[in-house]
Amino acid sequence: MFEFRLEATCKTTGARAGELVTPHGIVKTPVFMPVGTLGTVKAMSSRELHEIETQIILGNTYHLYLRPGPDIIAEAGGLHKFMNWHSPILTDSGGFQVFSLSRLNKITDAGVECRSHIDGSKHFMSPDWAMDVQRKLGSDIMMCFDQCTPYPCTRNEAEAALRRTTLWAERCHEIYNQFPSLEGKQTTGEEMSRVGRLVFSSAAQSAGVVPAPTADDEKTLQNANHVVNGELTQQALFGIIQGSVFDDLRVRSAKEITSLDFTGYAIGGLSVGEPHSDMYRILDILNPILPVDKPRYLMGVGFPTNLIEGIARGIDMFDCVLPTRNGRNGTLITSTGQVNIKAKKYERDFSPMDSECDCTLCRLHTRAYLRHLYRSGEILAARLCSEHNLRFLIRIAQGAREAILNGNYPAYCEKFYSLFHDAREGR
Ligand SMILES: [Zn+2]
Repeated sequence: MFEFRLEATCKTTGARAGELVTPHGIVKTPVFMPVGTLGTVKAMSSRELHEIETQIILGNTYHLYLRPGPDIIAEAGGLHKFMNWHSPILTDSGGFQVFSLSRLNKITDAGVECRSHIDGSKHFMSPDWAMDVQRKLGSDIMMCFDQCTPYPCTRNEAEAALRRTTLWAERCHEIYNQFPSLEGKQTTGEEMSRVGRLVFSSAAQSAGVVPAPTADDEKTLQNANHVVNGELTQQALFGIIQGSVFDDLRVRSAKEITSLDFTGYAIGGLSVGEPHSDMYRILDILNPILPVDKPRYLMGVGFPTNLIEGIARGIDMFDCVLPTRNGRNGTLITSTGQVNIKAKKYERDFSPMDSECDCTLCRLHTRAYLRHLYRSGEILAARLCSEHNLRFLIRIAQGAREAILNGNYPAYCEKFYSLFHDAREGR
């Protein structure tokens, strides 16, 4: 059911284009994944996510476990059905939130004793917990429970977290291998790539652009329910590499984690406040160690320059809350750099936000109108900004993929840097 097909590799940079086949559709890489923390990408409906060509979204295990709870989502038929999103979903393991949000009581090799950031209730999070919850959510891709270190941290702290991350990866792997094998017909990625989008294309359907779902499509959709009679469809498990900014620890973690046979490998613990030069150096070190035939996911990274540089270092998948969080705060990412729509200079600016962009905001509205909406506290401002920022990052990944397939990724990067300017960013 899961397969990664590497289609092209840039000879100059090592950037990769590929296809990740999942039970809910084929993900074309490099890909940017919007974050749907609580069963929704904030301010975006499933229909809108399809319209901006979102291929896969992320769900947060820690948040969904606390609210509404995994049993309710399982009862609804899994997260896909609960939120009516029938394209691929990746769930994180909850590790990052456990260490960054909850009040920690005690960490041992068995797991983490902590208190909820919502109501102070007591919980025990462990590899077993993470696998159980993600199984109930029914995501296409699950992540191993890991210990993420903050930045800065000492070498001893990084080493302790690394050791525990490997221990927990082994436990997750063991649990994963005990999942019962599934019998009967499963939907294929090819079938779902078509059907997942059809459901939300009612407007396009009435305009005759997209055909209405056939009886076969409806059947495919029914078969795709992730929890059928208490049996789950197939899920993949990714391992996570830790080691902070210590080169030898990153190498050790990569070797330990890749010795376990996971469907894909993620790089965690970066973009937590370290200089970008550290992030790029770690990626350069990991690039030759990671298996060529498995997808690589750089967790929590989504600033445009980080995407361009990450792709150049062989990364296939990215996620980040930045586009939606910044969008709600009135900060937009455009092809020339960041724009703060609150600024007075946009009061009479009747030009589009970004003439290169094809989102709702850029096609239909002006900067002056958006500034007015934002200053008036209108909800539409948050929606338009979130959509624009997500579409911007999705377009970067799409453009990169096309360039890699055409053998001109270095020229694509040059063009990006010739337009994009950001005072905080070095290359
Ligand atoms: Zn736009």
